[in-house]
Amino acid sequence: MRYNLIRKMDIADGPGVRVSIFLQGCEFHCFNCFNPETWDFDGGDELTDEVIERLMELCSEEYIQGLSILGGEPMHPKNIAATTMIAKTFKNMYPEKNLWVWSGFTFEALQKRKDAQEVLQYLDTLVDGQYKDELHDFRLEWRGSSNQRVINVPASLKKGEIVLLTK
Ligand code: SF4
Repeated sequence: MRYNLIRKMDIADGPGVRVSIFLQGCEFHCFNCFNPETWDFDGGDELTDEVIERLMELCSEEYIQGLSILGGEPMHPKNIAATTMIAKTFKNMYPEKNLWVWSGFTFEALQKRKDAQEVLQYLDTLVDGQYKDELHDFRLEWRGSSNQRVINVPASLKKGEIVLLTK
């Protein structure tokens, strides 16, 4: 599995100051995608144990509020094992910090997938849905188009229906 980029101080992708990792590979190919260099599953660099160790180390800083996993497509069947492993490691090490994931798959679609059951247990927030250029709105926070949703995952799992994140 491969990744495109790690940001050690990200203030754009989720609340507060965060660490973010952009995984490599996406088949959605949304028109005007903000990150087409992440589409190729063979691009970027190998996601080794050392890279994940370094990622966790970056998250240890007191000023880091959480970890964001973006892409590419973190929930693509080729990437979901890596996303699950990063998510599990992060939540075990930093239960007080929050985990956000961006995915072109909807929450409902992920709930139907066997390979997504575990990772959903670790997420605090899922920003879901493919980017739709015709619904782009620059005033939106943490999402590019109005079809995408910022979902409170633990509350949604508990209630059995989508609960949006409120500040
Ligand atoms: S799902 Fe995300 S990374 Fe993939 S094409 Fe759409 S906007 Fe780009």
